Amino acid sequence: MLPNIPLLGFAAYSGTGKTTLLEALLPKLTQRGLRVGALKHAHHDFDIDKPGKDSYRLRKAGANQMVIASHLRYAKITETPENEAEFATLLQQFDIEHLDIILVEGCKNIAFPKIELHRESVGKPWLYPHDDSIIAVASDQPLSATSHQLTYLNINDIDAIATFVTEYVKPQVSAPLEKQKQSGSCDTEHQHQSLSVNAAIKRITDSLTPVSGTESVPLNHAQHRTISDVVTSSINVPAFCNSAMDGYAIRSADIEHTEFKVVANVLAGHHYSECIQSGQAVKIMTGAPLPEGADTVIMREQAQEENGMVRFPNAAIKAGQNVRQPGEDLQIGQTVFESGQQIGSAELGMLAALGLDSVNVKRRLKVAVFSTGDEVFEPGNHPSAHGLFDANRYSLKGLLTRLHCDVLDMGILPDNLAVITDSLTDMAKHVDLIVTSGGVSVGDADFVKQAMESTGQVNFWRINMRPGRPLAFGRIKDTPIFGLPGNPVAAMVSFINFVEPAVYKMQGDLTWQPLKTQAKAVEKMRSRQGRTEFSRGIYTVNPQGQLTVSTTGHQGSGLLHSMSQANCLIEIAEQVDTIKPGEYVTIIPLQGRI
Ligand code: AMP
Ligand code: MG
Repeated sequence: MLPNIPLLGFAAYSGTGKTTLLEALLPKLTQRGLRVGALKHAHHDFDIDKPGKDSYRLRKAGANQMVIASHLRYAKITETPENEAEFATLLQQFDIEHLDIILVEGCKNIAFPKIELHRESVGKPWLYPHDDSIIAVASDQPLSATSHQLTYLNINDIDAIATFVTEYVKPQVSAPLEKQKQSGSCDTEHQHQSLSVNAAIKRITDSLTPVSGTESVPLNHAQHRTISDVVTSSINVPAFCNSAMDGYAIRSADIEHTEFKVVANVLAGHHYSECIQSGQAVKIMTGAPLPEGADTVIMREQAQEENGMVRFPNAAIKAGQNVRQPGEDLQIGQTVFESGQQIGSAELGMLAALGLDSVNVKRRLKVAVFSTGDEVFEPGNHPSAHGLFDANRYSLKGLLTRLHCDVLDMGILPDNLAVITDSLTDMAKHVDLIVTSGGVSVGDADFVKQAMESTGQVNFWRINMRPGRPLAFGRIKDTPIFGLPGNPVAAMVSFINFVEPAVYKMQGDLTWQPLKTQAKAVEKMRSRQGRTEFSRGIYTVNPQGQLTVSTTGHQGSGLLHSMSQANCLIEIAEQVDTIKPGEYVTIIPLQGRI
């Protein structure tokens, strides 16, 4: 798959001066602070090192991959005699963390955004009429009037081309949330907007604010809560100078002495009340306070104690070693936690280490969960001939419980507009968030959407994703509501993508980000271009220590079993249609989340 970084190609017939233009352009881009990668595709056989050079000799002797490095640069040369490397594989060689854009010279026949370079004097035809991936032309000849949708640049105006590239790199800021529309006034176009997953997440989270209520909870009940007020340390941690080892404390001025008189034995929690004198040592345990005058500890394993005297025959002693200084971990007045910090095990320990027995936290989020549909029945009842059991309410309650919300189970609503409208309006007064499933597609009984429309606001989006294309997000009165799709897998995948970030934001955690990483595909994976595919996957670590991933098999959006077999979602980006075995793909690990 292609790396997640702006790519821009330069397409032209040979003789147009691609490399010369890029050479002039690069300094202008770096001056503007861009970090640029360059990929050059050559049609002929090329070699980059010379006969006689060490790297050349090793390569010719049979090294299939050769890395040569010095303190200034390194290069990797990979021989690909059988199969030319794919475009995606070449791009994966870049360390995109240190780049803002990759400029590509050549690769004319691959579909990715390009600038066409054209010079009248070269006498070749235009490329853009036959290539949809051309987004701009740089030429010394004006364009025809029909190609007005292309950006036109003067090929001799390098500054203008640099400006175009800089603008192109700027993150695509999604359009601000249109002013929310009041009851019934939504225009159809807005209701049926098609949105990318990330644009939808941004719109949702931008429109939400953290709950304002806070409470003080005892430390024993603070796990998974979100800190509401900055926590500063009122003490030094550690509070006093103490030993980091079981051993012997001495004065550093005595390092050259060969023998010391052991004058005391101090256990943790106790202390030696006198000042240590020259030539003396105090036997000391980890965590015990250093006696006055002592500043260095030699570990027990390096000591030989006999008849009240101790020697350290082979120890290379450094002044101040093995001693923990007061405030080394935290100092009085230091900020320990910001507001929005989630309290996990480490934070519980840290709060306790500060001597606190309670902490101010955001109040818990109250979330109501409804299912909808005449065909949906409560488990435990007799199966109906035309119905199915309610899976969604249970998986959604599970997901919300994982997020430590107070969950209100509101049961199943029939496909009846009045009942749905009344129930949602009533519930909106009591909770921070409502989550429903079913009734948001474009079927005849899709009443959740209509209820939202008549009582608050609705944004009905077709998300460019599968599963989970329809998503309704809006408000009932002022309470935010998610109308998730009815298909059980779609409901869960939509929850993970949209509800989870919304809940974190409302809980006051403004820095939360979902864990995503890359794994090597072990099978071919397909998706439709223009749509993000979330396949259920199983990742493992191969013997080389790399993450590898396969799908759970057939990916129907009603197959809830696949969600249970999976330990990750495989995210196949919008611009990709096929992942080949051996290529990297993004995975979203599900441990701890579902
Ligand atoms: P809908 O979004 O209401 O058109 O439903 C889409 C599909 O999901 C239909 O096949 C429904 O029967 C199914 N479905 C809806 N709600 C649930 C539920 N709570 N549990 C399991 N399946 C459901
Ligand atoms: Mg339904």
